[in-house]
Amino acid sequence: MTTIAPEKRLGFSDAFTVHNPFDNQQVGEVELTSADEIGHLVRRAKKAAHKFRHSMPAERRVLLNALADEIKKDQEHLANLICLEMGKTIHEARNEVRRAGNTLLLSGDAATFLDGEVLHCGIVPGGVDRHATITYVPIGVVGAITPFNYPLNLLCHKLGPAIAAGNAIIAKPSPKAPLAAARLCELARRAGFPEDLFLIIQGGALQAQTLAGSPIDLLSFTGGEIAGLALKQASGLIPILMELGGNDPLFVLPDADIQSAVATTVGQRFEIAGQSCAAIKKLYLHEEIKETFLNHLLPQVDALKVGDPREVSTDMGPVIDEAAADEVCSRISRAIDEGGKLLTGGTRDGSLVAPTVIDQVATTSDLIAKETFGPVISIRTFTDLGTAVDEVNSSPFGLQAGVFSNDHALIRELERQIQVGGLMVNEGPDFRVEHVPFGGIKKSGLGREGVRITIREMSETKVIID
Ligand code: NAD
Repeated sequence: MTTIAPEKRLGFSDAFTVHNPFDNQQVGEVELTSADEIGHLVRRAKKAAHKFRHSMPAERRVLLNALADEIKKDQEHLANLICLEMGKTIHEARNEVRRAGNTLLLSGDAATFLDGEVLHCGIVPGGVDRHATITYVPIGVVGAITPFNYPLNLLCHKLGPAIAAGNAIIAKPSPKAPLAAARLCELARRAGFPEDLFLIIQGGALQAQTLAGSPIDLLSFTGGEIAGLALKQASGLIPILMELGGNDPLFVLPDADIQSAVATTVGQRFEIAGQSCAAIKKLYLHEEIKETFLNHLLPQVDALKVGDPREVSTDMGPVIDEAAADEVCSRISRAIDEGGKLLTGGTRDGSLVAPTVIDQVATTSDLIAKETFGPVISIRTFTDLGTAVDEVNSSPFGLQAGVFSNDHALIRELERQIQVGGLMVNEGPDFRVEHVPFGGIKKSGLGREGVRITIREMSETKVIID
């Protein structure tokens, strides 16, 4: 069990300990940043931003490449920190470190393509012979608030574009996984980042809201809806980018490649114990292939090795803490009470929740109606794709969706009807490419994140008419 204090117990001018969710061993102690310190750090970041705003894109790329190099040199240490602080397996942690380096390299490349455009102004009488030059200039100080589940790469998704656009950044990682972020800040210094260009504050909701209410110039948040709403209210009239929760479906149609769809389902539901925003949280199986699909799926789920995330042979580690395991297990019990049929799993040992598959989950059940951050596949059966899509569209979330089929007419129809930020064809919803816009509609977010689009979002548009 992790003993990280719940958000509401995190006070100012204090410290908190970080524990491995698997065995509750203490893996770090972190000082909380006080309100005064946050104010002081924001002022320092403002000065750094002011100096950095006229840097050349090529200089920004050099910095980001140098940080990517430092990450590479430190990769095993960073992977161990992530594995220890939030319990993802060492394989998953290594993959996250590799992705984080890549996010920074792509940001550096994109910095050199922050092109503007020139528009002729002759459509109004005074505009004859005049041209508007549109450029993108730095916005100033970016405040970045991040969740526990990808403590390094999601921070790099804010850091890389912020620097590429010529800004300074102050980040507040999750108190459940604050160590990799702190290490990244040390590595930035080694990489030659100018002083105060990238600063970290530590703490929970109070520190997040204090940062949001400080004179920063843009807030970029990734996390859940409750925190998102609180931060929107705290931040006032500044631009906000929000990557929020998801309740993503995968549709498997009669002509699907079943082996591939099953492998994707196992990979994208049990990765980091089901705690990914775009994980396959609802599985829509066409009646014709359901039995075959389950015959392939269940043995693979039962074969997953659950346990110590540090062991290379472990396939799935714990959820973030015992409270999260309690929540997932009570949702499973309620779904069964509401008519769901447990096909496998449903048990737990501390924060290790067994990979679980439940069929016939009611649409009103929390497992289907809400975002479930845990290793549970909730199955719905359909015969008419349109009806299944209507069911998905009635959700307040709209992050991503996936479909397995080669029926182009049906896929085109799905593209038209599904209300999500991204549809993955012959892939699961958790597929992400770092420079491609990622994000959702409705309660899944405001704006998109993905290196190229984020650089634009973290810039001001400036117009010169001459
Ligand atoms: P969380 O919302 O509890 O915490 C995220 C951050 O917000 C943390 O830094 C936390 O300290 C801070 N915070 C928490 N409560 C707050 C409050 N009341 N006021 C201000 N700040 C507050 O989220 P989490 O549990 O760390 O992460 C899981 C959530 O994040 C899920 O909903 C998941 O879907 C979402 N997520 C979304 C994406 C995406 O790209 N869309 C990616 C990863 C995670």
